[in-house]
Amino acid sequence: MIQSRFSFEQGPIRPPNEARSLLLRLTRNCPWNQCQFCPVYKKRKFSLRTIDEIKEDIQTARDIADEIKALSWKLGSVGRVDDKVASHILNNSQYSESYRSIAVWLYYGTGACFLQDADNMIMKTEDLVEVLTFLRETFPEIIRVTTYSRSRTAVRKSVESLKKIHTAGLDRVHIGLETAYDPLLKLMKKGVTGAQHVEAGRKLVEADIELSEYVMPGLGGQEMWREHAKETARALNQINPHFIRLRSLRVPNHIPLYQKVKDGTFTLQTDDMLADEMKLFISTLDQITSTLTSDHIMNLLEEVSGKFPDDKEKMLEVIRRYQELPDAERMIYRVGRRGGTYRSIDDLTGDPVTYEKLKNLVHEVKSKDGDQGLEKFITDMVDRYI
Ligand code: SF4
Repeated sequence: MIQSRFSFEQGPIRPPNEARSLLLRLTRNCPWNQCQFCPVYKKRKFSLRTIDEIKEDIQTARDIADEIKALSWKLGSVGRVDDKVASHILNNSQYSESYRSIAVWLYYGTGACFLQDADNMIMKTEDLVEVLTFLRETFPEIIRVTTYSRSRTAVRKSVESLKKIHTAGLDRVHIGLETAYDPLLKLMKKGVTGAQHVEAGRKLVEADIELSEYVMPGLGGQEMWREHAKETARALNQINPHFIRLRSLRVPNHIPLYQKVKDGTFTLQTDDMLADEMKLFISTLDQITSTLTSDHIMNLLEEVSGKFPDDKEKMLEVIRRYQELPDAERMIYRVGRRGGTYRSIDDLTGDPVTYEKLKNLVHEVKSKDGDQGLEKFITDMVDRYI
């Protein structure tokens, strides 16, 4: 591989809205690693990386970016990473994964950078400040830097420390809040309380760091869905984060929660129950100015999105429309949505050919395997995305 000297480390995941960001790894895996619903990092050990290692990676990313720009001049694209430059790199197996990743980042030109892995606030404040300062000096073209953190870790930092981190270059933190209902946090071994979620969130907001809180519809199961929806919304009312992002629960057989589903102590919500849960959750959100998004493929209703308070009614209306669909139409929507064909309820009337195909598919699966078989068919389709 001619460019193999140029490579840097990247972790396994990033939030969906960071798909076009430069990914740099500050820590490896998750220091907690116990959440019952989480499929990531399970057999991997957490470790901090040294400042020198991280800086070396940042410098390598810079060198690759500069080489790609020089290549662009050679190919006649005047320093831009356009289709010609991108396909030259992506279609040539001699370029390393790191090269490809920087080429894609430059191609999309987002100027965004996401720092991996699960909980970078665990780094000492001065180390994080040093890394961020180096990153901003080395890549002055970066316009947004974001990372993941746990509330339990962020809450240990003072507002003053968080302000230093923000001033050094961190713009946004994504927190996996999931729920703020204490018995459910305990059941799921999240390692944090609702009160800590609120305190961590408020500190980050006070430090002027943009805050994105991930909520997990379905996490309460049929046993605790009401409390989950209400308590989570109440916590968010106190935090008023910049973003609330929905990422629905899925339970593939390799996560710890699967055992509880199997032995009957946790009962999964159906899609129609999830619609009720979302309605309660959104109805309880008030006094906030957050933007809510459902930009995850595992969510039933992607259109439930908007900014509070103005779009609250619009979001509730999307849920109402779903609930008012005749049973047969609702099933066609679910199969279309879960199969990745539909993104909106309006898609039901957008393309008659697709609609007919989905209708026939529902009929076929139902005639062969009955209602239960159809539910399993839908579940299997969603689980492909995990
Ligand atoms: S803190 Fe996040 S990454 Fe770690 S186990 Fe929990 S959900 Fe997974």
